[in-house]
Amino acid sequence: MNPPRKLHIKSYGCQMNVYDAQRMVDTLAPEGFVETASVDDADLVILNTCHIREKASEKVYSELGRLRVVKDEAARNGRTMSIAVAGCVAQAEGQEIIRRAPVVDVVVGPQSYHHLPQLLARAKSHGRALETEFPVEDKFGFLAAPSAHAIRARGISSFVTVQEGCDKFCTFCVVPYTRGTEVSRPVTKIVDDARRLADNGVREITLIGQNVNAYHGEGPDGRAWTLGALLHRLAEIPGIVRLRYSTSHPRDVDDSLIAAHRDLPALMPFVHLPVQSGSDRILAAMNRRHTADDYRRVIDRFRAVRQDIAFSSDFIVGFPGESEEDFLATLALVTQIGYAGAYSFKYSPRPGTPAADMREMVAATDMDERLVRLQELIDSQQSAFNRAAIGNTVDVLFERSARNPGQIVGRTAYLQPAHVMASPELIGQVLPVKIESLERYSLLGRLAPPPEARSVPPVSAMTPAHLVASSQTTMGA
Ligand code: SF4
Repeated sequence: MNPPRKLHIKSYGCQMNVYDAQRMVDTLAPEGFVETASVDDADLVILNTCHIREKASEKVYSELGRLRVVKDEAARNGRTMSIAVAGCVAQAEGQEIIRRAPVVDVVVGPQSYHHLPQLLARAKSHGRALETEFPVEDKFGFLAAPSAHAIRARGISSFVTVQEGCDKFCTFCVVPYTRGTEVSRPVTKIVDDARRLADNGVREITLIGQNVNAYHGEGPDGRAWTLGALLHRLAEIPGIVRLRYSTSHPRDVDDSLIAAHRDLPALMPFVHLPVQSGSDRILAAMNRRHTADDYRRVIDRFRAVRQDIAFSSDFIVGFPGESEEDFLATLALVTQIGYAGAYSFKYSPRPGTPAADMREMVAATDMDERLVRLQELIDSQQSAFNRAAIGNTVDVLFERSARNPGQIVGRTAYLQPAHVMASPELIGQVLPVKIESLERYSLLGRLAPPPEARSVPPVSAMTPAHLVASSQTTMGA
């Protein structure tokens, strides 16, 4: 039997890339690859790239420069190292990567990574391989399922892709070009994935897609199901105690999704709903296809069915033509909605998008100053949200042992990390925790008596309060 080959994946960007990286590991496992955390002893290195950030491609070329040194060293030691570039930069700049970076053996777009084994074989026989077409077949039908061992190693919370691509064409966004048009996976495939995850210890599933609430996959009845209908179906699977979804577009929030929040205790009352700007003039220039008031009405519909629901969002400051008045409209919207947190970025053009040709650039100093003002407002809302949890008893899904001996850590419904002194045997359970203090973004508390033994505060007493401390970028919608 051949010794296992070592695979090192470096993944950038959104949740979808994290998920894709895991599926690449699953797809290459039958080829004899096992994951390694060290790039130095890898036989195959994959850079799973993201095109959302500024100068994304330049960062990839710098990383490839560093990898060239590692690859040369491996060759001197008689080892062959292969390098693949995957993800959205690969999709957008495949030919250019092949031209500029001879160190790269394989370039593969996000819709083609199920072909990695064949592409590696092709690179071995022909020198190099490139695939950035949008294939006609559904890649999910070809990807190897994760092993039970891999699922357990990845913990009790898992992503499941239900939808990819986007038809909205916001003028600043590369997603419709790098991920293609909207495609939804069939309901039965998603349910099969979720069952397999639940059978192997997963307790929380986050459904992901660039525009996840545009989901319209084929149901067992042959009709297109909505995201709300899919969530109802998934909530029936034994073992799945929490459901989430990301990232949503305000225009695609339909009645079935609102009903899912009303009816499903497993569906967490925390929604990431990007708005990008509070100015109708800028929203139109962004081609968002909704106004600030449309967005407010969507928020109201959620709040009407779940008083304890909280929101996070994405904002771009300094979009071409944004005036001080437009920016003030954004601050007014944030003040009115009251977020549990948000991601905010300065506008930077993405080559090939319509906004990249817009002329009225906002001065860099104005952008800097607006970003500071917006982030101060969001930070104050986030801090208030987190502080409001102190003194409450909240449900926590325990995920892992903490760094402090004897402590375990989990997440609240609002994705706040919560630490308690307790046995690791409780990992995988949802238990009530009395929150006693806040340390930066983490809540500290102690296990509380089960619900029947305590008086439960009314939901309204818990609002607003909380947020996410995440290093991932959001994606889409
Ligand atoms: S920002 Fe979201 S909705 Fe707009 S084009 Fe990108 S993925 Fe689609």
